[in-house]
Amino acid sequence: MSFQKLDEMSWVEVENLNKDKAIIFLPIGPVEEHGPHLPVGTDFFAARDIAELAAHYVNQQDDTVHTVVAPVIPVGCSQITADFPGTISLRGTTLARLVVDICTSLVRHGFRYMVIANHHLEPMHVKAILTAIQEVSSHHAVRIIETASIIAYSGLHTEETQKGLAMGFDMKREIHADVRETSFIRYRYPHLIKGDVTQLPPVLIDIDEALRKGCSTFKEMGAHEGYLGTPSRSTEEYGRLHLEEGARLTADLALKLIHGEQLPEMNEKMKFVLDSHVTLD
Ligand SMILES: [Zn+2]
Repeated sequence: MSFQKLDEMSWVEVENLNKDKAIIFLPIGPVEEHGPHLPVGTDFFAARDIAELAAHYVNQQDDTVHTVVAPVIPVGCSQITADFPGTISLRGTTLARLVVDICTSLVRHGFRYMVIANHHLEPMHVKAILTAIQEVSSHHAVRIIETASIIAYSGLHTEETQKGLAMGFDMKREIHADVRETSFIRYRYPHLIKGDVTQLPPVLIDIDEALRKGCSTFKEMGAHEGYLGTPSRSTEEYGRLHLEEGARLTADLALKLIHGEQLPEMNEKMKFVLDSHVTLD
């Protein structure tokens, strides 16, 4: 069976789902600037499309599992882009409470397996979601994961990164509205590309160094147009890889979650950074 969208179901249908065999995907993709060439909803679209395709992959691999995709949470912590028009940014405490309340509502009605399909890696954003997961998990017998931090920080070798390296990109400088995200929008929503992206000069910034120097937004780091990376070399094919590999990795995590298998963990360095250098206020 194919996945269901929570917003299209009746309460009776939700009640009748066998929750022991159901995974609910919660896509989260904050509305924020993505350069002059991409829509502010880039993360919103990516989170939704990856979650829906992941749900489809789960069904293909295990047809005893029911998959439900919730509407996208369209907000998150986007302080790093907050000085551009179109960005909506929450404080970490607000996001954590939002996620706790959403998950608690779902737990109340029996959901036990939740996959927060996140498409935004700002440290405060990730920490807020992880804090919320911890809180909900400490009160209820549930398994919840957030996908972006696992995919980015657990040592996974992704084809997307390998291919990017092979094409000559410094993937540590493909950060935002970059070759990956521009490729994704070119592949899925070409009508939403603004202007001729092939004319955009690369903006390659050492983000760690900029943070050390005290810059707190992309604009302060010198990304005056709001993108960091090489959108000019985006391709539809690379965009397809971003979507399909993101969905495959998300589906793998979802299946591990419901089958009670051990999940990959974020590396120690990133755990330390989140614990000691990131606050939710
Ligand atoms: Zn993005």
